[in-house]
Amino acid sequence: MSLNIAIIGGGASGLIAAVSAARTGARVTVFERLPRMGKKLLATGNGRCNLSNARASADNLWAYHGADIEFAVPALNRFSPCDTVAFFEGLGVLCRVEAQGRMYPACGQASAVLDALRFECERLGVRVLTDTEVTGIQAAEPGQESDAPRFLLQMADSRPDTEVFPYADRVIIASGGKSAKEHGSNGSGFVLLEDLGHKITLLSPALAPIKTQTDFVRQLRGVRVCAVVTLVNNGKNAEIRHGEILFTEYGVSGIPAMQLSRYVSKIGCVLVLDLLPDFALERLLSSAAELLSHAGDESASRLLAGFLGRRLAEAVLKRFGHSPETPAKDIDIPAFFRLAKALPLEVTGTAGFGASQVTAGGADTSQFNPQTMESRLCKGLYACGEVLDIDGDCGGYNLQWAWSSGRLAAQSAADSVDSYIFTTAKI
Ligand SMILES: Cc1cc2nc3c(=O)[nH]c(=O)nc-3n(C[C@H](O)[C@H](O)[C@H](O)COP(=O)(O)OP(=O)(O)OC[C@H]3O[C@@H](n4cnc5c(N)ncnc54)[C@H](O)[C@@H]3O)c2cc1C
Repeated sequence: MSLNIAIIGGGASGLIAAVSAARTGARVTVFERLPRMGKKLLATGNGRCNLSNARASADNLWAYHGADIEFAVPALNRFSPCDTVAFFEGLGVLCRVEAQGRMYPACGQASAVLDALRFECERLGVRVLTDTEVTGIQAAEPGQESDAPRFLLQMADSRPDTEVFPYADRVIIASGGKSAKEHGSNGSGFVLLEDLGHKITLLSPALAPIKTQTDFVRQLRGVRVCAVVTLVNNGKNAEIRHGEILFTEYGVSGIPAMQLSRYVSKIGCVLVLDLLPDFALERLLSSAAELLSHAGDESASRLLAGFLGRRLAEAVLKRFGHSPETPAKDIDIPAFFRLAKALPLEVTGTAGFGASQVTAGGADTSQFNPQTMESRLCKGLYACGEVLDIDGDCGGYNLQWAWSSGRLAAQSAADSVDSYIFTTAKI
């Protein structure tokens, strides 16, 4: 008789877990609180789904974060980025690798990834219960030998018994973190795990835009520039990232700022922007001197627009205490460029869970077996994806973790037949 496996959450890790478990012959039910599965997947990679990164391996654990990053090693080793590509190509989604090892579906559409997973679930007979939030999990007492399934699931809305199968031999929690709640992950998985005795580490938004003092950034809303961004906490612990930033109404977004958001502390935090990272100060000064030699009464903003773009040049001039119309010859040009190469912005916080892409922190991994993803506290219970205290940098690392851990949880759950008594008699 086949095992009944309940998967809580139909996001990235839940979907791969559903396919992987169903392929072993298990009877799989996915419980999804939203009207459709995989809503977040559609938003990933700006709608293109950066589904993995060629570097997302145990050799590059620098891209992952958590109290014990080594926890991720067995899952990443057993299902690597190459396996991800093979898996999706097996479902008809060809992949391609772009700059910095980022992998995307070749068709450029996140919906192709979601459809492939949904259709495979359908083909394998996975039962999908949408609009169904799991609010409680009752587990059989340890050591209890009975012919009943080990788990009884409680749901937010009672649905007709004919539709819902609340019993399971194994449960996989794939409910995500608490970032981007509109995409489904509302943090309820943490509560389910806590109720079963699991510890949840400190949760904080990661990969979120950074909020700063607004006088400088507000006038630049929508402006993008390539910069080196340094985050300094209380005058020390500088973290540096490089890439395109985007000025917003309330601060700085873009990949470098998002990568730095996990290091933002409550007080004394400053972002320092090098807005001309490709040029040394001397080089900038010699170019400006050349222009100045025949500038006459030309305004500073016109002279400097070619270096930074007009809006940014004007904003730096204002910060410097000058109106854009001030004649260039009246400006302290070396001081202007020194400011443009090290412009400090006081940090006031991050944009929070709602605007973050991932949640740092999660279920304490010391309470799970990294070889199987099974709980050390509750037999037959597994967790995968972002609900665990592992998260990754921008660039496909988070989805690779979702695929690797979801796959391992499902295969372990389906393989664990002999480890304890179970039956599917009631289901
Ligand atoms: C805008 C955005 C863009 C991103 N882009 C990328 C990218 O390009 N590359 C990358 O690697 N990562 C990206 N990420 C991060 C990545 O999407 C997540 O890390 C990944 O989806 C986590 O997978 P998961 O299965 O753990 O959780 P999720 O994908 O969040 O799925 C959890 C699912 O569980 C459901 N659920 C939650 N609680 C319950 C419950 N109690 N009962 C029933 N259902 C429940 C939710 O509705 C949801 O569908 C992005 C995130 C966001 C928000």
